[in-house]
Amino acid sequence: KLATIEQLQKVIDNSKSIVFFGGAGVSTESGIPDFRSVDGLYNQKYDYPPEEILSHTFFMKKTEEFYRFYRDKMLCLDKKPNKAHLKLAELERAGKLSAVVTQNIDGLHQAAGSRRVYELHGSVLRNYCRNCRKFYSAEFIKNSTGVPTCECGGIIKPDVVLYEEGLSDSVVTGALNAIQTADTLIIAGTSLTVYPAAGFIRYFRGDTVVLINRDSTPYDSQADLVFRGKVGEVLGELRV
Ligand code: NAD
Repeated sequence: KLATIEQLQKVIDNSKSIVFFGGAGVSTESGIPDFRSVDGLYNQKYDYPPEEILSHTFFMKKTEEFYRFYRDKMLCLDKKPNKAHLKLAELERAGKLSAVVTQNIDGLHQAAGSRRVYELHGSVLRNYCRNCRKFYSAEFIKNSTGVPTCECGGIIKPDVVLYEEGLSDSVVTGALNAIQTADTLIIAGTSLTVYPAAGFIRYFRGDTVVLINRDSTPYDSQADLVFRGKVGEVLGELRV
């Protein structure tokens, strides 16, 4: 049975430490495609499957092709936060939300004003030379051609967790600590199929799990409130 906004409003009103756990679906209303929806990146035609392009092996072996896909599909620098990002920032300012844990790499939560954001898969906004660690902006990558190279000659790599790579220890620790101490967990815009990230929600031991997703997920039966809709539209209805 699907939940109502009134039920969600009551949960929010009674919460003191909400954690939001989100994925690519949180940014589709900003015009950034997700991976697994019908219009997502996995259903478009490329020379290689996106999972392969976004792997560490592919980055190392076919760096130029990696960057062709990455510049074209992953660097969406003109996109703006939507109602979901903005409402979450408002909930944090009101002292009700303790953290956003996101699988997204687009930086839109921070652009909306969220301060405590655990980016499990890194961010396109940070790029480092593999040789000397010099920092480069996303604009630098966007405006580069071929393989972006540092002034020292090293190859620049986005601070994004590719398939086959591990998550940052400090980000994992912060995210798990936030989830473990939350009273309400809102899960939204994620297919819950990318591990280890998807497994993090199992650390929640608070009162209420809210799930907002366009398609069904493996976790639906375990959530207390389930919305089958757009996360920006659902969160946009809330009074803070
Ligand atoms: P996913 O593509 O596997 O799943 C997205 C889910 O969101 C789907 O179940 C879909 O039904 C749902 N959805 C789409 N739009 C929605 C909306 N407006 N409201 C509610 N639900 C909506 O994405 P995932 O689970 O995050 O895993 C894929 C990986 O892709 C992540 O690791 C992430 O790093 C990466 N990714 C990030 C971005 C980004 O930074 N914006 C974009 C694409 C992929």
